[in-house]
Amino acid sequence: MRVMVSEALSDHDMEILREAARILKNGGLVVFPTETVYGLGANALDERAVRKIFEAKGRPSDNPLIVHVAEPAGAEKVAFVPELGIELMKRFWPGPLTLVMPARSVVPEEVTAGLKTVAVRMPAQRIALELIRLAGVPVAAPSANLSGRPSPTDAAAVEEDLGEKVEIILDGGSTSFGVESTVLDITGERAILLRPGGTSLESLAEFFGYTPLQAGAGAPVCRRSPGTRYRHYAPNVPLFLREDESVWGKVAAWEPGERAYIGIRPPAVPFGCVRLFPDVQTYARCLFSVFREMEKAGAKVIVADWPEEAQVGLALRDRLRRASGGSVSPE
Ligand code: AMP
Ligand code: MG
Repeated sequence: MRVMVSEALSDHDMEILREAARILKNGGLVVFPTETVYGLGANALDERAVRKIFEAKGRPSDNPLIVHVAEPAGAEKVAFVPELGIELMKRFWPGPLTLVMPARSVVPEEVTAGLKTVAVRMPAQRIALELIRLAGVPVAAPSANLSGRPSPTDAAAVEEDLGEKVEIILDGGSTSFGVESTVLDITGERAILLRPGGTSLESLAEFFGYTPLQAGAGAPVCRRSPGTRYRHYAPNVPLFLREDESVWGKVAAWEPGERAYIGIRPPAVPFGCVRLFPDVQTYARCLFSVFREMEKAGAKVIVADWPEEAQVGLALRDRLRRASGGSVSPE
């Protein structure tokens, strides 16, 4: 069932959230909006509920989940929070920064995929925060899409992928970031960026006084964050990246009418469908919904512009690379 909820949190909205919180407490699945993408939530302390997430998504069981909390104190219940974690929370929470910290034993293996660490974040979205607060439990939630598909940035995309598999979809409109959270491992002496996302590397570098090591730059990092191994976010037609101008030759086999283009710079050859964005933030926010849109419009191949690396461009490059089937981390 899909139900509209507004961030204004009227009495009616609160009634709906109380019902959704009850479902969570009773071991059910609730889809809710966050500022990044829609999440498929379950009580993080209930292993049977968490298993339902993996079943609904078809997610490989070795890919751990992010635990969502409504306040920094909630993180202490699932993780041993180091001093550095407290400082990071003060600066970046609520917001799209996930912290990987040593896990407490209450966290089931299903959540951590057997790792000794747990990933935690506090979303900057009033519906999400109120839902978690009312449920009174930490909420494990990956993106609410079928495994491998583009993440959902609106409730209609969730319905397409998960429809009847979840008890309730809280429809809070389109999400504001459109790419997932930044995942930062703070278990070691130096912070490691496991996944670029909505919190920029530049803002983390400013906080630390050094640029965190990035997954892929150092050897064993991908093993620390199993999710980064998989092909992800993919549309169901081939996707080519405009890393250089040789891309036009690669799509010459398709008729112009079959080709779709997305990006900031206009394409150099004719395309049947073109979506241009004014800046990299808008490109990132719209990427996943445009993938789905173009599939529906019957595109047979998609070319995506290659953005500058600065700010959210780093996360956008990561999602584009994965969606095109390219490898991001060494394996
Ligand atoms: P998703 O739920 O699809 O946004 O993916 C969650 C991301 O967080 C994946 O890349 C996971 O590998 C990563 N992650 C979750 N828990 C941990 C953890 N304990 N250690 C390292 N990475 C994690
Ligand atoms: Mg996901």
